[in-house]
Amino acid sequence: MRPGTAAPELKVEFFAFANINNTIRLREGRLLVRLSDLLEGAPEGVVRAIAHILLAKMYRKPIDRGLAARYRKYIGSHELANKAHIVRQMRGRKRLQSPRGRFYDLEAIFEDVNRRFFHGLMGRPRMSWSPTKTRRILGHYDPAHNAIVISRIFDHPAVPQYVLEYIVYHEMLHLKHPVRLRGSRRCVHSAEFQAEEKLFPELQKAEAFLKRL
Ligand SMILES: [Zn+2]
Repeated sequence: MRPGTAAPELKVEFFAFANINNTIRLREGRLLVRLSDLLEGAPEGVVRAIAHILLAKMYRKPIDRGLAARYRKYIGSHELANKAHIVRQMRGRKRLQSPRGRFYDLEAIFEDVNRRFFHGLMGRPRMSWSPTKTRRILGHYDPAHNAIVISRIFDHPAVPQYVLEYIVYHEMLHLKHPVRLRGSRRCVHSAEFQAEEKLFPELQKAEAFLKRL
């Protein structure tokens, strides 16, 4: 779109907008692109259409009608519209809490586990303590909000740090190994997931502590 000039550095990420939204900005010579995470897994043709539309906007060039139609058709499709509706409802409702508890800081725990077990490569989701001290769910990863939520019962000086690290590690493995469909069954803790979980050095101690809870 700008013949004779070098392509700028490009940073593209999926972003948890509350609806289907895509943005492009130029910052210090870098193009920053954010695509709605609802478009993750969109067919390649659709992603190409989005890329064309965003670049055409950026450089004030005409938008190809065929590509614009392709994008609109996909966005208007029934399945995606439903998904967007559900996500909008959930994102609108959910209130995440601060990652800083009275004793433990979940972001610090995440960064430490990330460095030790994932070469620091995992993007940090939002980290939140649960609003109440729930024993029913110790922790969960919420893909709609890209958030890891940990039960507030663990924000306590009697809880060893490795227990909290183990729970955060487990949720990070959910990020790394998304739920797969095997036939019609949802496979939440796949064989790879379980093998990797065993790499946590204090696994047995942590499990023993959780059993006594
Ligand atoms: Zn799990």
